[in-house]
Amino acid sequence: MGDPSRDDVRSRLLSWYGANRRDLPWRRSRDPYRILVAEYLLQRTRIASGTPYYERFLERFPTVRDLAAAPFDDVLTVWEGLGFYGRARNLHVAAQAVVERHHGMIPQSYHDLMALPGIGPYTAGAVASIAFGIPVPAVDGNVIRVIARLFRIRENVTSGAVRRRITEIAGKLVSPEQPGAFNQALMELGATVCTPSAPACIRCPLERLCLARAAGEERTLPISSRPRSPRAVSVVFALVTDNRRVLVVRRPRGQLLGGLWALPGGERSGRSETADLKSSIRTQAGIEVRVGPRWSRVNRTFSHRKWSGSIYRCSPLGRPKGTESVRWILREEALRLPLVPFHREAIQALAGLESFGSADNIQISQ
Ligand code: SF4
Repeated sequence: MGDPSRDDVRSRLLSWYGANRRDLPWRRSRDPYRILVAEYLLQRTRIASGTPYYERFLERFPTVRDLAAAPFDDVLTVWEGLGFYGRARNLHVAAQAVVERHHGMIPQSYHDLMALPGIGPYTAGAVASIAFGIPVPAVDGNVIRVIARLFRIRENVTSGAVRRRITEIAGKLVSPEQPGAFNQALMELGATVCTPSAPACIRCPLERLCLARAAGEERTLPISSRPRSPRAVSVVFALVTDNRRVLVVRRPRGQLLGGLWALPGGERSGRSETADLKSSIRTQAGIEVRVGPRWSRVNRTFSHRKWSGSIYRCSPLGRPKGTESVRWILREEALRLPLVPFHREAIQALAGLESFGSADNIQISQ
């Protein structure tokens, strides 16, 4: 069996997409800004959980100018809970560059899109093809999987050379007449039919062309060297409070949950919980604390890490000094900041319990 013919792939996929595409809010618009927002917001996010974020985001920032002019904390507040916070920063800087360099108009060429800070080949390809009808590929994880199976690529798809080859194939397949629909069709096929562990080949419009299916390898491809399960890491955090004030620190950019405000603490270095906690608070907020009882347990799984550990009640020994990345503020003010979601829950639980009396020595569990 030879390589699938480009025309066959295009026509089968486009007619399947016409009949099976899901009606999603971002597919009802050709507005390039809305498409740009959708492409950032929905990468590696389930549609059901991403859709309310998309709608709230556009309500709060209806135009690229509104987004560019907003403080980054406002962007993070709307994004909070969605994860992958680096994407929020990238979208924000891209919007600012659109306003500064292109008078608030999303550029209409793939190369100008690629020249914007924070935009990579996938996003540039998706916006160029969907919003402007430019025949360029948009290669995300779904597309990689479909092409690796369709062309029976038995090499590691995490390698740069194999990625380039897949992008080249996607570039040749893309329909010159309907590039946006074609790219969305490939992604839709990967999301709904050619899924990672259980491809539904009998429902697939490409079944008769698919080399992996013909070889019985649809479940073993693609080959990837990436570890599948997230690494387990111990963490400890502090709910440092005094009367109605709480200590929060800004998590450094580039780290997990980077840019969000958080309770001080973090990943442990291997000493006792108390020693690690005191040392983190000293480094992050410049104060000493008295460590009190455990407040709650932490069990959170992210894409590459699984955090488990505790949050402790602590009292400050001295008054914390506010800086760019440290705030000693009223709890209600803290709750207005973009916060690490499970730290928000801890502060809210404290406020809730205190409305029934003293919360000292009470432990809640999660
Ligand atoms: S036939 Fe199966 S493996 Fe091949 S593209 Fe379709 S769903 Fe994927």
